[in-house]
Formats: sequence, C-alpha cells, structure tokens
Amino acid sequence: MGEKIPHWLDKQAFLNPEKTALETPEGHVWTFSELQERSRQMAYDLKRMGVEEGDHIAFLSGNDIHFPVFIHAVSYIGAVVVLLNTRLTAPEISYQLQDADVSRLFFAASLTEKAYQAVEGTGVKAVECINEPSVSREEGGLKKEIDFDAPYTMMYTSGTTGNPKAVIHTYGNHWYSAAASALNLGLTPDDKWLICLPLFHVGGFSVLIKSVVYGMSVYLMDKFNQEQVHEAVMDKHVTHASVVTVMLQHLVKRAGSSGYPDTFRCMLLGGGPVPNVLLKNCSQKGIPVFQTYGMTETSSQIATLSPASAFDKAGSAGKALSLAQLWIDTPVPGEIGEIIVQGPMVSKGYYNRPARQESYIHTGDLGYQDEDGFLYVVDRVKDMIISGGENVYPAEIESVLSEIPGVKEAGVTGRPDDRWGEVPAAFLVAENETIRNADIYRYIGDRLAKYKQPADIYWVQELPRNASNKLLRRKLFSLTEGGDQ
Ligand code: ATP
Ligand code: MG
Repeated sequence: MGEKIPHWLDKQAFLNPEKTALETPEGHVWTFSELQERSRQMAYDLKRMGVEEGDHIAFLSGNDIHFPVFIHAVSYIGAVVVLLNTRLTAPEISYQLQDADVSRLFFAASLTEKAYQAVEGTGVKAVECINEPSVSREEGGLKKEIDFDAPYTMMYTSGTTGNPKAVIHTYGNHWYSAAASALNLGLTPDDKWLICLPLFHVGGFSVLIKSVVYGMSVYLMDKFNQEQVHEAVMDKHVTHASVVTVMLQHLVKRAGSSGYPDTFRCMLLGGGPVPNVLLKNCSQKGIPVFQTYGMTETSSQIATLSPASAFDKAGSAGKALSLAQLWIDTPVPGEIGEIIVQGPMVSKGYYNRPARQESYIHTGDLGYQDEDGFLYVVDRVKDMIISGGENVYPAEIESVLSEIPGVKEAGVTGRPDDRWGEVPAAFLVAENETIRNADIYRYIGDRLAKYKQPADIYWVQELPRNASNKLLRRKLFSLTEGGDQ
C-alpha cells in the first residue's frame, strides 16, 4: 500500500462546496458539492449492480457531463476503469475488453449498437449507463481515501507503431501529473480549463483530475467546435485550454486581429510538431501557447515550453516539468537518440505484459537536447529510415512535402533498395488534379538533401489513420496493393 490522501472530490466538496466544478456550453453548471453527490450516488448504483474493488470495468462514452460522474464513482469503489475510444470499431473494442479482462462494459445510450456488437461472444456484460441515480441517500461503504499505489485507469495507447497497449495509471500517477502541471503553470482561484479533447485520452482526462486536485472549474465541450471555443475564451472567462495543432490553426483564424482577452492564460498544445508560422500568428495575436511533449504512459505532458521561449527555441517541446526527468540515450550530448523519461507520473507498466525492471521508460521517440537542455522531438525510433548509412526521418520529409501548394497531406516511409539498403517513399494526397511529380521535385530540390528526397511518389485518395487520427506509416504500402496509386 502506498501513501494515502483524503478522497479528492470529498475534499473539494468540503473546501469549495459552492464553487463551480463543471460547466457546459449547453448551460449545465454543477458545483463541487453537486458533483460529489451525483458521483457518490452513481457509486452506490454500481455497487448494487455488483461492481467491487479491483474489478475491471470498461466505459464507452463521448465527452458528456456524466463522464466525470462515472469516473469519480469508480474511485469511490476502487474499481479499475478501462476508457474506450468511441471511434474504435466493435471488433477493436472486443479485443480491448478481452485483453484487459473486463467484466462489464458501461456505455452511453448513443453507443448502444456498438456496445452490444463489441460484447458479443466475449462473456462481457453490457450495461447502459443510467445517468440519474436511482436513490439519493448515503449507504456507507464508499472509499474515504485515495491510495497512490492503487490502479485507477487503463487507457490504450493509440496503436500508431503497433498493437495498442493498455497503460495502467495509478491514482499517484494522475495526482503527480496534476501537481507537476500546476508547479509549471501556477494556479489562481479563477482558473477555468476548457476541455475539447476526448476524455478517454489522457490529454482530456487529466484535466478532470486537475479539477478535483486543485478545486478548479472545467468548461466541458462534447467535441471541438471553433465557434464555441472562441466564444468561451472571449466571454466565459476560460483561462486555459488543451488543444492539438489543427484545432489551434482554426482558432487563430477565428481570433481576428484583436486576439484574446488577458484573462486567457494558457493554450496547452500537444500531440505533435507545430509549424513555426502558427506560433508566429499566435504571438501576434497575444495567444499564450505552451508547447508540450507527452504520451499515454506519462499520464499527460511531461515536458513543456513556455511562450517566453517560443521563438528562441522554435520547434522545441521545452524542458521536463519539475517533478520529471528526461534525457537522451546517446553517448554524445546534442546528438539524436531515444528520449528516456522518469518520474512519479510515469506509468509503471502495461497490463498483461512483463513488468518493467527500470525506474525509467524508453519512449520509442527520437529527439535531442540543445546546449540549454531544451528538447526537440525528431520522430519515432521505429520509423527511422537508414539510407546509404544516413539516418532519414520521415517527419522532416513530410513537413517539407506538406508545405507544397497543392499537397494536402503527406506520409513517408522506407522501402528496401538494392543499392542504398532503404530509400524514402512518399504518399501524397493532392488538393487538386493539376499537381505533378515534377512540381514536387522542383520544390524539394534545394530544401532536402538528395538522400532525403523520395525515390517514389504515390498519389492516393487518403492516408491511413488510426482512431486517434494519427498517421499509420506502417500501412502506407498497403495502399498500393489495390492499384490505388
Ligand atoms: P503507440 O504507442 O500505440 O504506437 P502512440 O505513441 O501514438 O501509439 P499516444 O500515447 O497517444 O500513442 O501518443 C504519444 C506519442 O505522440 C509520443 O510518443 C510521440 O511520438 C507523439 N508526440 C507527443 N507529443 C509530441 C510532440 N510535441 N512532438 C512530436 N511528437 C509528439
Ligand atoms: Mg506510444
């Protein structure tokens, strides 16, 4: 057993009973006291259905005001909740239910069909989530404390480099992640964090935990909507928002020349590389962007770049947060190697896989640190191409290719070659019919060294992506099998 703290939601309901815990664009406003009451009643309902401490239960729901109620209810019982991506297909969900030894699948009404298809033949019981608690009285027997070492959530990685793996997060992992973020960004009593990322991924989920650890209000949206986010920042006193690059590109356009009010303190940007021009536009409009690096295994961001360094260190994901350590596995400082991370927010391992012996993890990402210790993420280890003895990074080539007018999207991977060992091949989605291979080679001619220039170009209708919308480079060549070039 590990360190214990008072249950975080009970604590906030005691300290800040009348403070807003949750708000939605549809007009819901719940205080911490209301959130506590609903969550405790939901916990009794789950107990009545037979859910016990240590049980693995799965949850299939989009962003909904009842999502936080469910995950807090689980914490009052001590069950482990497997959060499912709603964009997965029924067979993909079936795999995760069985892999994670789930006994019951709780689902939102709108996902009934998918839920029943997914449980078929698995022995998992499907239960529709009833949002209004059946009785409202206290019955006792709920957890009063949170044990830092107890497992709380399981989230599958996106499956970009192979089969998704079930990352186990303890309460301690989530708590330390929230603490590290607060030490980095600071806290004020008026903070209100907007969620438009999915709650079943760690980027969205971690904000719900910050809310109960800090006593902070959350503005919860069911999905990203440019107009709604803009309005929330301008008129609803939102102070923080977590976004990915494409969302920020839309928001900057919408922001107009006057930019954002001073009340807005932090645009936390993560999940992938950021074009320089986007940072420049944000700065001109006074949008404070914090670039971050993180992964499911680190329970949210582990390194962050503050707006003050955004230009001097353009393209960097910053430095490790104060509770975390990060270094590069390379004998020569400044060279590219695998990024290694360590800290109390880093998951101890995957479910159903051998336990990790070391206190740190190999991230599978390549990067380097400059002389001031700033991290630059380069690409994935598995995706690096070695051509004629030179290391070639697909992300660099994709970034140049996607700048070309007429190219909508680009994916790059290696293919075997007799002379060079491997050479890069590019898969491009055209914006219009007029673009030719010659245009591509003209553009990259003085921008990419010869050995980085794609040996083949395939024009395709769309690129293969997973349920998190990440490019699946390992599936690019299968596009050519159907004569789709
Ligand atoms: P899988 O582990 O199953 O292959 P995944 O790694 O895509 O899938 P996630 O945990 O959702 O699953 O994503 C984390 C990954 O996203 C990181 O390991 C890294 O490759 C990428 N990433 C996150 N932040 C950045 C960033 N700032 N720059 C570049 N890449 C980033
Ligand atoms: Mg990964």
